[in-house]
Amino acid sequence: MIESARGIVLRRKKDRESDAVITLLCEDGRLLRARFHGILQSKTRSNLTAEPGSHVELVLQSKDASIASVKEGTLLERNDVWKSGYRPLSLLSSVLEFAEGMASACDSDDLYRLIAGGMEEARVHARLFEEPESILFFTAIRIRGLTIAGLTGDLSYCASCGERLGKQARWSVPEISFLCNKCSEETTEADARAAHTLARMAAEGFSSLLSVRQGDNGYIDHLKRVEQLLAICIRHALPFPSPAADALTGGPA
Ligand SMILES: [Zn+2]
Repeated sequence: MIESARGIVLRRKKDRESDAVITLLCEDGRLLRARFHGILQSKTRSNLTAEPGSHVELVLQSKDASIASVKEGTLLERNDVWKSGYRPLSLLSSVLEFAEGMASACDSDDLYRLIAGGMEEARVHARLFEEPESILFFTAIRIRGLTIAGLTGDLSYCASCGERLGKQARWSVPEISFLCNKCSEETTEADARAAHTLARMAAEGFSSLLSVRQGDNGYIDHLKRVEQLLAICIRHALPFPSPAADALTGGPA
């Protein structure tokens, strides 16, 4: 059967000397694996359609269910800015890896829109790859992805009694939920601030999140703490291997 698929290349693996097997996040949110025959040794065909981060359209022949065969590939958008240096590439690989993990937990076109929209942001925000914007961006991608997968509750309210959280709260790591100071004796201002930050990231558009400049060290430390605790929660929520989460939390669990 011949079919076509559009999406973002999440991963490329070399196979059988000159083949590339890619994992594609399709526009409808499902994951698809496809084989480019002989592309790694081809002098006439471009490798760019198999490159992670590229937005592509493929014509496929699906002989067996697990890996489809690429008959024709068209590069729609290379997303060059993401491939322009170490920092962009490393953020790109974290985003793509997270997308793959989330897509295996849920099929949702919202997930595709989140990742595609996130990649567009780099064209608008020149500082996306610098701190604190890179941390804000990646944390926002992850909290939204988790929300799409139904793994977070309402981050402004206590998970036990339902009261709105105040200046003190307790982050119930590894769950992405918070307790108020009536329901926990271990509340802190730092956790209340984390809840507030995550609630904002889940709700606000990238442009309003990223245009706020709060470049002091205290703010960056706060964001790093949120990012690190969130990585622990993700590892518990989704049992997929994650070098990015490992790097943040100091090694595999
Ligand atoms: Zn409570």
